[in-house]
Amino acid sequence: MRKPSPPIPRIALTGGIGSGKSTVAGLFAALGVPVIDTDVISRQVVQPGSPLLAQIRERFGSGVVSAGGQLDRRALRNLIFTDAAARADLDALMHPAIRAELARQSAAAGGRYQLLVIPLLVESGMTGLAQRVLVVDCAPEEQLRRVRVRDGVTLEQARAVLAAQASREARLSAADDIITNTGEIQDLRTQVEALHLRYRALSPNP
Ligand code: ADP
Repeated sequence: MRKPSPPIPRIALTGGIGSGKSTVAGLFAALGVPVIDTDVISRQVVQPGSPLLAQIRERFGSGVVSAGGQLDRRALRNLIFTDAAARADLDALMHPAIRAELARQSAAAGGRYQLLVIPLLVESGMTGLAQRVLVVDCAPEEQLRRVRVRDGVTLEQARAVLAAQASREARLSAADDIITNTGEIQDLRTQVEALHLRYRALSPNP
């Protein structure tokens, strides 16, 4: 009988909005590392016609589904924004579906190790999914500046998003590895290449 192959190491990548997660994920992807993004998955699992979308509609009402059958994310966000019980209900519906799809995509992706992008890792307590947690870190002022440029929002809007996320300290205390994103993209690339060597060494087939 063939021995089951050892599990592929998984690295969870997280960081606050505007910290540079997508940029860092792109650099790992350019090195050939499979990247699985839970933001993308969270949209895939609520596609029109999906069982999960039907459950969300049942719990939150038809106002959260557009005429075209798409999830109206803004309407849903408004509903849960000030209602902790509603948010908990939504998480209870979404998280198992996201975990299951993540496991499916991870099993199909292969690679020597995999990068799982989990923006709300600390907030959602999904830390158990990966061997290591990699945090992209920068000062909140830098996050605010980047988010305002990227998303064209006001300082107040950017501040509100940051305030709703885990603190920099909470994120750093969950980190096994840290990428500091305070300089040029080339500085990021250097840090990514160094981590890539270390993560490959974790692999059962380095
Ligand atoms: P996140 O995915 O964490 O929200 P992004 O990777 O999208 O963050 O970065 C936010 C914005 O800042 C993007 O427009 C990105 O191109 C830019 N950015 C990130 N890091 C740097 C950097 N070191 N130098 C210049 N621009 C950067």
